[in-house]
Amino acid sequence: MINRRVLLRAGIVAGGLLAGVTTAGSAASARTADQRPSTPDEAWAALREGNRRWVDGTTTHPHQDAARRREVAQKQDPYAVVFSCIDSRVAPELVFDTGLGDLFVVRTAGQTIDPLVTGAAEYGPAELGTPLVVVLGHQRCGAVTAAAESLRKHKKLPGELSTIASSLRSAYTRSGGDVDKMIRVNTVDVVSRLKKDKLFAPRIAQGKLKVIGAYYSIDTGEVTRLV
Ligand SMILES: [Zn+2]
Repeated sequence: MINRRVLLRAGIVAGGLLAGVTTAGSAASARTADQRPSTPDEAWAALREGNRRWVDGTTTHPHQDAARRREVAQKQDPYAVVFSCIDSRVAPELVFDTGLGDLFVVRTAGQTIDPLVTGAAEYGPAELGTPLVVVLGHQRCGAVTAAAESLRKHKKLPGELSTIASSLRSAYTRSGGDVDKMIRVNTVDVVSRLKKDKLFAPRIAQGKLKVIGAYYSIDTGEVTRLV
């Protein structure tokens, strides 16, 4: 199969294709499966389209074959970072119907953050120009629920689980004991924190990067943007 991106890079079909993109209207509507989204809005549009397929039961499982494995073997160029929970029901590649080489995925319990995690999220945008970071909270988050219970009862969780609860204390305080609200507040908090990141802030100001927050419904499969 002839790779369109390779042809575009080589300038072989650039004239014809780019003319087509211009007349077709928005870049998102003209994008094909082989064209990597290059702007924050194109990246979000691609994720939304994939999530729509997931919700509707019309997934295409793109980029999950040997040809794709060979294509990205020497170099990766993902178009988004998805920072989500470890929950087994919230696998980003599945809920956005993506494949190999499409996403950087960072996952922690309740998508709680610390410097190590921030470093992992920074890698794509800072080193490879990845245009989008999505912080993804989700319905019935066990980590947030356990943290809320621990904080409410003043009962420390065992091991390093207590660190997760500490990280969620601020969201707990501002949510009045409502776990679903706490999940959303925490997600927005993490977005705010990442937006202030030293490596992210200049890229955001230049329009090269967006950091957005979203909420995943385990019941419906739908991702809804929060911020
Ligand atoms: Zn969770």
